[in-house]
Amino acid sequence: MYYPEPIEHLITNLTKLPGIGRKTATRLAFFLLNANRDYVLELSKSLADIKDRIRLCSTCFNLTEKDPCEICTDEKREKDILCVVEEPSHMMVIESSYPNHYRFHILHGVINPLEGIGPDDIRLNELKERIKKEQIREIIIATNPNIEGNTTAHYISEILKGYNIRITRIAFGIPIGGDIVYTDPQTIKSSLDNRKDL
Ligand SMILES: [Zn+2]
Repeated sequence: MYYPEPIEHLITNLTKLPGIGRKTATRLAFFLLNANRDYVLELSKSLADIKDRIRLCSTCFNLTEKDPCEICTDEKREKDILCVVEEPSHMMVIESSYPNHYRFHILHGVINPLEGIGPDDIRLNELKERIKKEQIREIIIATNPNIEGNTTAHYISEILKGYNIRITRIAFGIPIGGDIVYTDPQTIKSSLDNRKDL
């Protein structure tokens, strides 16, 4: 027993979304079926808009409506420092903690040999080009503190050895408001290694 074809079609499409099984897809399909028509049209327009209007900035590879993006054209930001991140969402988090301060370079991934992602699959050649062209003085590598993020950070520092720039890595340690007792030994070690003078 199947629902009418348009409903089945919607359910099939919704199950392609991450974390959505047939049960949830069916629930969502019926929610949309009963929803206000204006809302459903607005939603479908939003879906079309992200495909039609959003592209990657050709400089930093941020998601943007105009190229170069607003961050790259913001004259007030540090000109000779680049913050290197894995994904646009990571950039957003750093931006919210330090608004209007840094310029970014978004790799769109990390080196991950197990998944067949090598240096040429992320925006590393473009990073090298930018460092030369924009006379960058420092890059802050803000990839995640996991195997892939660390491998990528190490690789970047290797390929930029001859560039005469400062290469820094964000510090990893106990979260603000955290408790030493509940912190894992590796994080404690990282906090000790990254200690600061008071
Ligand atoms: Zn940009």
